[in-house]
Amino acid sequence: MNRPVLRPEEPENNAATDGGGRGFLGKFGAGRAAARRIEAAPSIHTKEALLLLQNYEESGQGWFWSTDANGRLTYITDTVAQQMGRSAAALMGASFAELFLPVDSHGERQRTLPFLLTRQSKFDELPLRCAFEGDRWWAVSGRPHFDGGGRFTGYRGSGIDITEQRRSAEDASRLAMYDSLTGLANRFNISKKLDTTLAAFAQQQRSCAIMLLDLDRFKQVNDTLGHPAGDALLKQVAGRLLKIVGDKEMVSRLGGDEFQIILPDVEDRGKLGDLASDIINSLSQPYSVEGSRCIIGASVGVAISPFDGDNSDNLVRNADLALYAAKGNGRGRFAFYSSDLHQAAEDRRALEEDLRDALARGEMALAYQPIVKAKTNVVTGTEALVRWTHPERGPISPALFIPIAEEANLIWALGEWVLRKACEDAARWPGAMRVAVNVSPIQFANPDLPKIVASALASSGLPPEQLELEITESVFLGDSKDTAAMFKALKGLGVRLALDDFGTGYSSLGYLQSAPFDKIKIDQSFVRGATEPGSRNGAIIAAIVALAEALEMETTAEGIESLDQLGLIRKLNVSHVQGYVYSKPVSNDELLGHAETGNWMIEPAGPARQRNDRFQMFRKVGAVHDNYRYTVVMRNLSATGAFIEGIMNVPLGTQFVIDFGEGQLVTATVRRSKNHQQGIEFETSMVSDGNGGLCTRHRVSPYLIAAASQQAGIALPHFTTTSDWAGK
Ligand code: C2E
Ligand code: MG
Ligand code: MG
Repeated sequence: MNRPVLRPEEPENNAATDGGGRGFLGKFGAGRAAARRIEAAPSIHTKEALLLLQNYEESGQGWFWSTDANGRLTYITDTVAQQMGRSAAALMGASFAELFLPVDSHGERQRTLPFLLTRQSKFDELPLRCAFEGDRWWAVSGRPHFDGGGRFTGYRGSGIDITEQRRSAEDASRLAMYDSLTGLANRFNISKKLDTTLAAFAQQQRSCAIMLLDLDRFKQVNDTLGHPAGDALLKQVAGRLLKIVGDKEMVSRLGGDEFQIILPDVEDRGKLGDLASDIINSLSQPYSVEGSRCIIGASVGVAISPFDGDNSDNLVRNADLALYAAKGNGRGRFAFYSSDLHQAAEDRRALEEDLRDALARGEMALAYQPIVKAKTNVVTGTEALVRWTHPERGPISPALFIPIAEEANLIWALGEWVLRKACEDAARWPGAMRVAVNVSPIQFANPDLPKIVASALASSGLPPEQLELEITESVFLGDSKDTAAMFKALKGLGVRLALDDFGTGYSSLGYLQSAPFDKIKIDQSFVRGATEPGSRNGAIIAAIVALAEALEMETTAEGIESLDQLGLIRKLNVSHVQGYVYSKPVSNDELLGHAETGNWMIEPAGPARQRNDRFQMFRKVGAVHDNYRYTVVMRNLSATGAFIEGIMNVPLGTQFVIDFGEGQLVTATVRRSKNHQQGIEFETSMVSDGNGGLCTRHRVSPYLIAAASQQAGIALPHFTTTSDWAGK
């Protein structure tokens, strides 16, 4: 072995005593003691010291090295040479600097080894990585040596292995930056990233969107299948998210079932809406977790900088508000932030308060919508639909307040009231008309439900076969044993069961075979889609009907409004129809008037075909033409156009910029004009806002507005507000 001789007479050799004692030999007390003794009595102690050093080297705790004046290796501990995949002999004469690579120093300033060596500087515990074997790190110290004439003779130094420390430090920083379950960035990491992104983007006037995502019904999975299953599910969710978003660093798990995504340079709400829908669709596909199949959903809130906030706190808060709105709109949806959401969130809280006393104050009522046999137009039954008339706000849709009731624990009392009232009313109807009652999944999960149903039947005297309970597929998300037991108990009472809203959620035909349904209700969105060109919904409905017939179930198509839809439904052999084409929901009194004879038939009536979805609305917007800004009322908004009212006699072909507020501007051309009403066509189509409404794809950037206002008068004309046509 090539071992240099320690020569105690060289004064500079005694590095152990110099400076802070951190250099050569400074790491170990035995070496230091040995070195002192070398000075005192060279002959005996040199031998002793050599042995100690040899032991030390062999223990692997540290190693030594030396170079000549040209930086060529003259000594290196053999064990470390071997760790480098070489022998000490083979390394002799090699350039010391080339044995190492600098360690990624996480942004700290660090002098490089070649720099230090050429400067003949001393260095302490410089972290270095082996140039040959990728995963070894050392802290290397070195001292320059000079001869009596002050000429540089080379380096001597030591090193210690810091591989383990670095690994655990990396683990710790990984833990601090990444979610250990999913491997996604964690809350701390993503919020730092968002801070720096937004700060940089503000300088460059770029936009950045964020999405906040919350899983629907995840808690149910966790509670029924257990936490390990919940964890496994979250991992799969993370995998699906990554697949869609692509950029691993931009997806994070904030904790629990909440995720956040950063989307730099995206402000197009059409694209964002599509991405949010893709995410929701993907996450709503069934999962296989520990051998069980389970289904969850997701809701997404979107906020875009600089429009919806220019720092991360505002942006996240607003995305959160949008998420809250998306959930309030029925879950499984996305929503964009808009400033009215603050008011909407307030309203929702107020509604929840009012809902607590609504039953006691007699504000609830039931309406009944006929369900008609498609071939004969005979009414076979009705569906009971709860109506709430708020003392100040008037009628409020159950689509709005049922989810609030479910969340605020009020659904049980409300559901029981609906059930009892519907049974009482139906017991007095002539003939054997059935009544269908909606049962919330929360009611379905309550083991007391069969008792309540039995009691409602007994006290009203309604025969059980005239009561139909409508449940949605989400009941299958709970424990399958409990679900099966509930089905059995309800069927034991003799009531009928209908699967509601089929085609909206998870729509597994498997449920149909395993659960004792008497009827499948095909959701209106599914039926509507069927009349669109190229849609495969018709074929799917035909398959559902065939399966239902084989299983001796009835089918009902919901939400049929037009005659072309009715024609299609009849052609597809759907047995029953419920929709405005026959009748809107009516009060019990009105129903009694019609049903008197005991044989209630309705002639279908309605538009010949389903029109392009228009949103009935009454909304004030700005219409800008030349230097005039008119305030107009917008009605019948569709993606491609609208009606506006409020300006007299506008010539055809006039162009307006319609200002929907919050930077939403659309150029529109007048295509029809009569007195105070104009039909306008938009130059670019609007896009879905995720909640049945529309919004513009792009907004005018606050950067532009700020820039324009700086050169006021040039870019921003001064409008005169008027309601008389001022154009030429
Ligand atoms: P659902 O059970 O699917 O009820 C059918 C909904 O479609 C009703 O809305 C009905 O008015 C509407 N509809 C029927 N025909 C047409 C049509 O031709 N065109 C259109 N556009 N709509 C039509 P509604 O009354 O607003 O109820 C909404 C939902 O609220 C119901 O959907 C049901 O899920 C829930 N709901 C209503 N009453 C109750 C209740 O007493 N308990 C529970 N748990 N949920 C209820
Ligand atoms: Mg229903
Ligand atoms: Mg339905």
